[in-house]
Amino acid sequence: MNIFVRMAKGLRRLLQDGTINYTCDVCGREVFGGERICAHCRERLPVPRVVCPVCGRRVEEEGVCASCKQRRPVPNMVRSRFAHEGDALRLMLRYKGGERYLAQTFALELLPLLEAFPRPDALVPVPMTARERRRRGFDQARLLAERLSAQSGISVLCAAEKTRETAQQKTLSRRERETNLRGCFRVADRKCVRGKRLLIVDDIYTTGATADEFASVLLRAGAAAVDVITVTSVPSQPTHSMPPKDTSDGTSRTK
Ligand SMILES: [Zn+2]
Ligand SMILES: [Zn+2]
Repeated sequence: MNIFVRMAKGLRRLLQDGTINYTCDVCGREVFGGERICAHCRERLPVPRVVCPVCGRRVEEEGVCASCKQRRPVPNMVRSRFAHEGDALRLMLRYKGGERYLAQTFALELLPLLEAFPRPDALVPVPMTARERRRRGFDQARLLAERLSAQSGISVLCAAEKTRETAQQKTLSRRERETNLRGCFRVADRKCVRGKRLLIVDDIYTTGATADEFASVLLRAGAAAVDVITVTSVPSQPTHSMPPKDTSDGTSRTK
C-alpha cells in the first residue's frame, strides 16, 4: 500500500477514535489539547437548564412536564444532553448524514450524563433493519452506544432487532407513530435481557414513541428496568405546560 494512503488512513482512524483532534467539530476553528468543541461553541450549545425529571425535556418551570403528567413514558427516566436545536441540531444532522467521527464527540458529551442513572448492566442501541442500515451507510445508535461503551466500560447489548421497515416518523402524529412502530422490535435472546437494568441509547428523543415501543418490548422480555439516554431531545412545548391564557393583555404570565 502506498505510504501516503497508509498515513491518511492512520490519521483518519486516529481522528475517529478520538485520540487526537485539531479542529472544533462545530465551527472548524483550531482547538488544542484534544478538545472536540471550542470554548466559544460550547457556550452556545443548547444545554437545558431545567428539565422534566421524567422525560428529560427542557421545560420552562421545574417539575414534571404536562406531557408526562398526561401520559407517563414507558422508560423510568430519559435524559438527553442537548435540546434539539441550533448547533446541536446541526451536529446531529451532520452525524446522520455520514460524519461518523461525531459519535465520539457525542459519547464524550453523554458520559457525565450517565451519572444521572443507576448504573445499567448494558447499553442497548435502538436497532434498525439491514435495509435502513444500507440506506444510511451505518447504524447511528449502535455506533453511539459502542463509543459510549468504550468511554464508560458498560457493555453494549444488541439482543433486539428491528423486524420490519417503518414509515418515516417525521410527518406522523403521536398516535400514527405508535401504530407505525407497533411490533417492529423483537428480542432474539430473552436470556440476555432477563433481570437486567438496561439503558437504551438513541440519537434523538422526539415524541418518545420509539423509546416507548422499544422499552415495552425489553420489559416484556423480562428486563428489570429500562432507562433512555439520547444526544438531543425536542423541548417540551411551553404552550402545553402553561396555564390557559388570561384574556387581559400583558398580564397572562404574572402570578
Ligand atoms: Zn467552535
Ligand atoms: Zn416530561
